[in-house]
Amino acid sequence: MSKARLATIWLDGCSGCHMSFLDMDERLIELAGLVDLVHSPLVDSKEFPDNVDVVLVEGAVSTEDDLERIRKVRQRSKVLVSLGDCAVTANVPSMRNRFSVAAVEHRAYIENAQLNQQIPREVIPQLLPKSRPVHEFVEVDVFVPGCPPSADTIHFVLTELLAGRIPYLTDKTRFGA
Ligand code: SF4
Repeated sequence: MSKARLATIWLDGCSGCHMSFLDMDERLIELAGLVDLVHSPLVDSKEFPDNVDVVLVEGAVSTEDDLERIRKVRQRSKVLVSLGDCAVTANVPSMRNRFSVAAVEHRAYIENAQLNQQIPREVIPQLLPKSRPVHEFVEVDVFVPGCPPSADTIHFVLTELLAGRIPYLTDKTRFGA
């Protein structure tokens, strides 16, 4: 039986959801027998590939770069999972939403800078007016709340999806679950 093609991506998040993925510990060995990890911050692949079976998306959509990436990821993936509260609700990144982009940039690059006080216009992706959850831009198949979701929850989600089922998460996402 061919392995499923799994990917993970990291938009505007803190990497905590990926750390929780790694917290599956020895279950990662079992998972490695079922999937090929074809793209992730955890592996050295630059371009998001075609024909991905399942993609776990960490983080909110906060920049033009995030938006371009999530659209491409959606086109190339069968099942898209919003992993964690930043992807599901925008969570921490949305704390800047009550301020304008200009005010946020001024605070970060001018007021709080000790050296080289200037707002970068190259290399750094342009912020969108608001930081928004993934489902506001592309269709999401599975929502996995939590900050971060526990390793047990991520393992449950992946094993259900790999068995061809949409995971039923109601009793898996309570505090401490
Ligand atoms: Fe980090 Fe929590 Fe956001 Fe995951 S949901 S990226 S752990 S802040």
